[in-house]
Amino acid sequence: MPNQFLIPNSKFLILMGAPGAGKGTQAAKIVEKYNIPQISTGDMFRAAIKDGTELGKRAKSFMDAGQLVPDEVTIGIVRERLAKSDCANGFILDGFPRTLEQADALTKILDELGTKLTRVLNIHVPAENLIERAIGRRICKNCGATYHVKFNPSTKGTNCDKCGGELFQRADDNADTMKNRLSVYEKSTRPLIDYYKAAGIYSEIDGTQPIDKVTEALFNVLSSVKE
Ligand code: ADP
Ligand code: AMP
Repeated sequence: MPNQFLIPNSKFLILMGAPGAGKGTQAAKIVEKYNIPQISTGDMFRAAIKDGTELGKRAKSFMDAGQLVPDEVTIGIVRERLAKSDCANGFILDGFPRTLEQADALTKILDELGTKLTRVLNIHVPAENLIERAIGRRICKNCGATYHVKFNPSTKGTNCDKCGGELFQRADDNADTMKNRLSVYEKSTRPLIDYYKAAGIYSEIDGTQPIDKVTEALFNVLSSVKE
């Protein structure tokens, strides 16, 4: 469990960005380089829906509509997850927090665990690119790897390059739901930029660059961060 004996070079990170900005894609690279767990609330909800749990039943209607799952539900699952031992040396949060209430709750949770955020990385992509990114997104059913039909296609067509698993399209990756998700982002999540700027731990990365360039920019920020 995270505690007061922080290991040097621990990385307690948030990866922010609008839906489709490239958070999941880049989180996978950070996981590989820094050996810290990726904590994606969207992935946690999708797993719960697949497993037919109570959490999944609660989350599904909000996700299908492109709305946020209520704060108390989302904060509860993150609180439980961050208390696990694999988070002791750091983590990369992907898709959380998405509201000011979640951001405040996160500060409190980390305080209780005896740690604090190292850096908030915001992948900035203009709204006009995001719908195309989401609609072309394909995910491996087996290993979760993310592709894009145009920008990052699998060489195996509708199967995963890494494991051969079948690729699928998320139910909420359609133009109508994306419009809701983007307006929810503008109203509820964008204000977090000023929140973390004020905390002095905010960095912005140009997410319109090719995937490898975005990774390079993120790694540059992370290598210069002092705890
Ligand atoms: P998020 O987790 O922020 O919703 P993803 O990482 O799933 O976003 O990326 C959304 C889609 O855009 C995916 O299909 C992914 O392959 C593609 N993508 C990610 N980064 C880039 C990039 N820099 N340029 C072009 N396409 C990208
Ligand atoms: P994502 O996989 O991050 O694109 O999230 C997919 C959907 O899951 C969102 O549109 C929300 O319905 C829900 N969700 C994910 N993370 C959160 C969060 N932090 N707060 C509320 N809802 C969330």
